[in-house]
Amino acid sequence: MNSHKNCPVCNNNEFRPFLKVKDHFLTKQEFSLQTCPKCELVLTNPFPEKQEIGKYYDSDEYYSHPEKSTSFFSQIYEAVKKVNIKYKFKVATSGLQKGSLLDIGCGSGDFLNYAKEQGWNICGVEPNEKARQYSKEKTKSNILSPDEVLSQADHLYDVITMWHVLEHVEDLNWQCQQLKRILKPGGRLIIALPNIHSYDAQHYKEYWAAYDVPRHLYHFGFSTIRLLLNKHGFNFLKREPLKWDAYYIALLSEKSKSTPLTYPMAVLNAWKSNVKANKSREYSSNIYIFYAT
Ligand SMILES: [Zn+2]
Repeated sequence: MNSHKNCPVCNNNEFRPFLKVKDHFLTKQEFSLQTCPKCELVLTNPFPEKQEIGKYYDSDEYYSHPEKSTSFFSQIYEAVKKVNIKYKFKVATSGLQKGSLLDIGCGSGDFLNYAKEQGWNICGVEPNEKARQYSKEKTKSNILSPDEVLSQADHLYDVITMWHVLEHVEDLNWQCQQLKRILKPGGRLIIALPNIHSYDAQHYKEYWAAYDVPRHLYHFGFSTIRLLLNKHGFNFLKREPLKWDAYYIALLSEKSKSTPLTYPMAVLNAWKSNVKANKSREYSSNIYIFYAT
């Protein structure tokens, strides 16, 4: 295990205890979350080193299933996924002319494929080799390993998207520097993240599925992600909700709690989260849109 001595966002050298959370998804191991009192970043601290982190991803469930399933729930899931991809694309590119788009952590390539159909030049980055090969075949486009990004030229992309990816990245500052380097000046950066200030985060506490320790190394609210990106030369444009995520997260959280009436309780709490967020803007997950200065 490795641990942070200083806050990667504001460099403060003091952390406070925040919550103890189990890896409900795979190992049932317990991890400590700490918070930085200065910038409110929440970190999984200590966290697994690079050599050990692989075992926490060691499940087929963690990656998108390319195979078609015909069960009722997977059909609903597929239908929601399609609607969601269209919505994400609209949010990411609204007001822009067609250009070049890089999706970091592109998984099986569904989002990229849609962007390609809409006439964008696409490229992807995917660390998992199986998923990388699959998305290469699917999109018939260039899908890079994280190392290959390093050799890419400066200022290549009009839009870079990271759908629930930044919370997995160990070196936040290095990642932000890379983003700034390969994005065109004025280019758009789209970051989707779970929101620790959402109603569902506060309701489920240590059972909130979006803590997803130790795979999620950082847990952000709006002010903290804005501070990190401002530091690296990005300005905030706007934020948009991911309302379906509330249902997915509530369902996983209810399952970890093993409450009776899992499904109705999940629907009720997800609905509550979205209603409350209508006013507060603190949705279960948000899409944050920045542009490079
Ligand atoms: Zn801090």
